[in-house]
Amino acid sequence: MKALIGNINRYALHDGPGIRSTVFLKGCTLHCPWCHNPELISPEPEVAFYPERCITCGDCQAICPQEAIHLESEHRIDRNHCNGCGLCVKSCPSGALILVGREYELEELVEILLRDRLFYERSGGGVTLSGGEPTQQLLFISALLERLHHEGIHTIIETNGLFSYEQFASACLNQLDLIFFDLKLSDSDQHRQVIGYDNRVILANLSRLLESRAEDVIVRIPVIPGYTASPENIDQIGQFLRQQKVLRYSLLPYHPYGLVKAEAIGVTPDQTLPRQAMDQSELLPWQGFFYDMELMST
Ligand code: SF4
Ligand code: SF4
Repeated sequence: MKALIGNINRYALHDGPGIRSTVFLKGCTLHCPWCHNPELISPEPEVAFYPERCITCGDCQAICPQEAIHLESEHRIDRNHCNGCGLCVKSCPSGALILVGREYELEELVEILLRDRLFYERSGGGVTLSGGEPTQQLLFISALLERLHHEGIHTIIETNGLFSYEQFASACLNQLDLIFFDLKLSDSDQHRQVIGYDNRVILANLSRLLESRAEDVIVRIPVIPGYTASPENIDQIGQFLRQQKVLRYSLLPYHPYGLVKAEAIGVTPDQTLPRQAMDQSELLPWQGFFYDMELMST
């Protein structure tokens, strides 16, 4: 059994309690303009190109069997012809090309994750599944979570909430210790216009999760200038969470890291998004909308 994985981040300190390994799975159903990991949206391997590292030796162009690389072209890689074979990445002497997405066998991944068992145990950490949207590779994460659960490893999933509840519940729920559930826009039409889907399934899934596992669900709200960061949106999310008796939430400050990564995979980033990261202190005004819930720093 295999999964396509973009990255494994060992010794992560911001993806849940303690020291963790975060597994970033490829493939996502949503298309948030502010996505931190746009290179993980596609369910296929992709080549990221970082021009500042390129010494224009031409090795990549010479080796590409698809003739998809053109040194003189502004975007360098013709994405319509690239099949993600990775030959150019291996040939590049300067690290200007990076292949995003590699298949891992289940036992290979488990072995990597268990290398840091001591760190998890000493720090109260574990393994976090992120992405992309991990539930896009549901059978694999079900098997992975079962193995980790069997080994006594604390597990978290970060999800956008767009999944079949029945399939998710039967595949994963009993093996998860915490669920980080993202809520972005309360208005369904706006959700569809901005992100690609309306939010009805997401809200229904959150409600059902809370019915059985309220204490293990942390709702995360990204605060994005020009999109989610409006008093109307945050207030409506607060009201919804209150109706649903949500206990814990987290506000995620905007970060422009995804803009550079979008450019690297040939996607023009949203030009309205700021190039500067949001300071933690800028979250304070938004926290008032959730005065009766427990703020989690995740
Ligand atoms: S990944 Fe393969 S097909 Fe794509 S640009 Fe590189 S060598 Fe060419
Ligand atoms: S092989 Fe690497 S350094 Fe050489 S031209 Fe291609 S991207 Fe640039």
